Amino acid sequence: MLTQPVSEVNGVGEKVTETLNELGIYTIEDLMFYFPYRYDTYEVKPLTELVHDEKATIEGEVIGEPSLTFYGRKKSRLTMTLQVEQFAVKAVMFNRAFAKKQINSGDIITVTGKWDQHRLQITVSQYKKGRAEAQNPIQPVYSLKESITMKKMRKLILQALEDYGEEIREILPEHLMESYKLPERSAALWQMHYPESRELLKHARRRFTYEEFLVFQLKMQLLRKLKREATEGNLQAYDNDKLTEFVDSFPFELTKAQKKSLAEILKDMKSPHRMNRLLQGDVGSGKTAVAAIALYATITAGNQGALMVPTEILAEQHYESLQQMFGDLVNIVLLTGSIKGKHRKAVLEEIRNQEADIIVGTHALIQDEVVFSKLGLVIVDEQHRFGVNQRRTLRDKGLHPDVLFMTATPIPRTLAITAFGDMDVSVIDEMPAGRKPVETYWVKGDMMDRVLQFINKEVARGHQAYVISPLIEESDKLDIQNAVDLHHQLQTYYEPDISVGLMHGRLHQEEKEEVMQQFVDNDIQVLVSTTVVEVGVNVPNATVMVIYDAERFGLSQLHQLRGRVGRGDAQSYCILLAEPKGEIGKERMRIMTETTDGFELSEQDLQLRGPGDFFGKKQSGVPEFKVGDMVHDYRALETARKDAADIIETNQLDTGESWSSLRELLFRDEALQGEILD
Ligand code: ADP
Ligand code: MG
Repeated sequence: MLTQPVSEVNGVGEKVTETLNELGIYTIEDLMFYFPYRYDTYEVKPLTELVHDEKATIEGEVIGEPSLTFYGRKKSRLTMTLQVEQFAVKAVMFNRAFAKKQINSGDIITVTGKWDQHRLQITVSQYKKGRAEAQNPIQPVYSLKESITMKKMRKLILQALEDYGEEIREILPEHLMESYKLPERSAALWQMHYPESRELLKHARRRFTYEEFLVFQLKMQLLRKLKREATEGNLQAYDNDKLTEFVDSFPFELTKAQKKSLAEILKDMKSPHRMNRLLQGDVGSGKTAVAAIALYATITAGNQGALMVPTEILAEQHYESLQQMFGDLVNIVLLTGSIKGKHRKAVLEEIRNQEADIIVGTHALIQDEVVFSKLGLVIVDEQHRFGVNQRRTLRDKGLHPDVLFMTATPIPRTLAITAFGDMDVSVIDEMPAGRKPVETYWVKGDMMDRVLQFINKEVARGHQAYVISPLIEESDKLDIQNAVDLHHQLQTYYEPDISVGLMHGRLHQEEKEEVMQQFVDNDIQVLVSTTVVEVGVNVPNATVMVIYDAERFGLSQLHQLRGRVGRGDAQSYCILLAEPKGEIGKERMRIMTETTDGFELSEQDLQLRGPGDFFGKKQSGVPEFKVGDMVHDYRALETARKDAADIIETNQLDTGESWSSLRELLFRDEALQGEILD
């Protein structure tokens, strides 16, 4: 059985098992599907085409008996002359005295090693008797841990293929294989490890790319379907007239994109299935307005709504802006960690007896002590900071509200359909009319003086500025030191006219709030900060955003930071201080100055940095594919997505012999099992 532990494979002892486990290889199947990350080509080339000092493979006839000399302790050198084309080439092999017996005058032999053009000599790392064509010219190269050699790994995988290859079953149905001309599974597996040619390798890769994408998409879409069909549905009969009245009270008309997203959300809410939707929209695109309407909808249906955000400051801002929008229409309460004692008790009571219509808060919202009366809708702002566990907590409390996730991080389409394949997605891809795009400039670090003067001018006009301090990767401590230093410098520079504030992650909650409040009140004109201001805080009077070491940030993150300004009527500016080394870095800075479209930036970011980096290091959620590449193989991904949708819609998986292997493979997945048992 392929699912048996890898220790069943011949030659895999305890020690090796441990190492393989570290590589993520637990079963025989894992070993067989541990694909090479590249291949060594042992292509025999004419001597004139070989490059000095580089790896080469040549084939020739051994002239005369090889000579073996020993030197030092246990060290040996085997030297022989090969007739290659019309040349005599010297081949040298170290510490392989045993080869002397195997290689004889007149043999044809293929050797690979480092080529010395001047001396017509090759230092052999690998040799095989016979001609190159008769052997496997393309060798797999696996990524390894120190305690296992390449040779051993090749041997083990070959062993597994030979002993268990027969058990590999086709999982794709015939009609798909035919329409995409995909090679059969076990044959393709051999080709992945020991390709007979580049052409066959390409086909094998194509097959596994598609397989991987299809399996992934099927899992995601099945999950989505199961979640939808979950029994305790949530049908919210909201009052349309009241909603219309509420929307009409806004001082602006909703954009087309807002209307479309709202319609999608309301449709979910009205339907019996539970909403699991992601609302994406650039900073300032008007997500909060849409969220407010959705919250009102749940209230008119007789329920409570909750808005959950990552930080206390944000909770307060949302609380205030919702209060402004709703006036006396509904009762809104705030629940964060710093609301304590009597006040907290009172708030909790209001939540319990449904005096509270809307509850705004941080993660405190889902703690045990919080008992909702009738929770109809939960809106989670900045989705990627709210994990699966929190969702589970709600579920475990017996709550099955509609859930709307909001994010201001524009997610490239490719990632959205993979990372969030189990959610429905609405996109606000249009800005309210009349917004002035933030003017963005890229300058060198030594221009700081001019930048400071520029800030001076803006402050003289009554505006404010953010300065994001240099970023030290992976070190909070140094980040903060940098912020502190910079704060000191700017304070000295601007004394006594301009007041400079400091904000960083190590400040206590109250200190942060105080600083932020001072900035909101314009008691502070220049705010030096680490990237903690990234999320959500709204100070429309700020018109300048200066970012140190801009080359170290992802485009999406720069865009988020830039989104802190340009929120009022005045023209705003973003100044990137950066000295990128490579072309890619320069290109990224150029892109930032040229576009303010978050979606375009996110696509560019993905192209330039790859999917792994997209959400930053701590961010998982983005699947890792073994063979396929979300960016390169985008078309295959799209095809797989469509096929998966078709398969699920027409219930093909439920029946039919041709799907049985795939079905089995899918339901080995833990998340799917969890959802079925739910
Ligand atoms: P987001 O939450 O997406 O960052 P907000 O909902 O906070 O955006 O909206 C940003 C600003 O734009 C707010 O001041 C809001 O009142 C305003 N706004 C929202 N929608 C519109 C619209 N359709 N037309 C004009 N202004 C709008
Ligand atoms: Mg917002």
